[in-house]
Amino acid sequence: AKTLLDVRNLSVHYKIQGGWVYAVDDVSFKLEKGETMGLVGESGCGKTTTGYGITQLLASNAYYKEGSKVIFDGKDFVQMSTVPSKEYKEYRKIVEYHPEMRKYRWKRISMIFQGAMNAFNPVFKVGDQIIEAIKAHEDVTDEEARKRVERLYKLVGIPVDRIDNYPHEYSGGMKQRAMIAMALALNPDLIIADEPTTALDVVTQDRILGEMARLQKREKVAMILITHDVSVVAEMAHKMAVMYAGHLVETGTTRQVFKETAHPYMEALLAAFPNIKKEKKERLKAIPGSPPDLSNPPKGCRFAPRCPYAKDICLEEEPPVIEVAPGHYSKCHFAEELYGELGGGESNE
Ligand code: SF4
Repeated sequence: AKTLLDVRNLSVHYKIQGGWVYAVDDVSFKLEKGETMGLVGESGCGKTTTGYGITQLLASNAYYKEGSKVIFDGKDFVQMSTVPSKEYKEYRKIVEYHPEMRKYRWKRISMIFQGAMNAFNPVFKVGDQIIEAIKAHEDVTDEEARKRVERLYKLVGIPVDRIDNYPHEYSGGMKQRAMIAMALALNPDLIIADEPTTALDVVTQDRILGEMARLQKREKVAMILITHDVSVVAEMAHKMAVMYAGHLVETGTTRQVFKETAHPYMEALLAAFPNIKKEKKERLKAIPGSPPDLSNPPKGCRFAPRCPYAKDICLEEEPPVIEVAPGHYSKCHFAEELYGELGGGESNE
């Protein structure tokens, strides 16, 4: 009953000239109140579409496949604010500016975008922009809103006198903190953070991630942390969802996925980050080959062309999702055989 978000069979496809891009296919996961989930995978694997698909902040050529469900606090967003597509059977189209959806966005679910550097309007003071966001959603006075921004600035570690500065007077790290303050301003139940620190140097990254982890605990807000960098989530996330080529390939607690890895793709990701504490950049190149073209995904297992364990069946049949341990799932024909045999992450404790 504590389930905050229940994503079921989510499929989001983009209509392109001459076909479709199958960006997200049949993705299911649950998030409890106050829980943090890491959603990881290489760029182009569908993790951003999954994250933004929750709040329907998607490009206009995005469609939900019929049967997709995004149940937040008991309400199915897909049913609520999409309609059957007239042109494409089996698909639903987003209703733009759906009033109820807009209320959920920011008020109940807020987002920290990739490249939050440019999220603030350069001609207004940063603090005023956060104050305006609060006032747009809540019936509070200027003074109350300002008090809240002061509290948030202290929380994220920005000197309070910076409230009256303009965006160009902030450093990159400070803008990122201000974005986090903005995300927390309306006391959301869920924050979706897409590569929140990727653009920053490693030291600032660590500091901000540490702060986000503390805030997440203190404010008891649930979080989906989308990143290509598994080391980012290792310490912060309670659970993990690993995506490859539009599919969730492994899900479980962070410990299960890191230490008792059950999918060859996760093994490869971990091998690409041999020491998750050091040198975080650009190690993914170590996985040989490249992800498939999602407008024409391979039949069978989408990881098969790069998988060292692939057998004939992998090229023919899509693998089922297998529960290898309680709450630990792998989408692999050989999940049971490989479970316990794959190299997991280095100890991080
Ligand atoms: Fe590798 Fe086959 Fe498992 Fe896919 S189904 S991950 S190709 S072993």
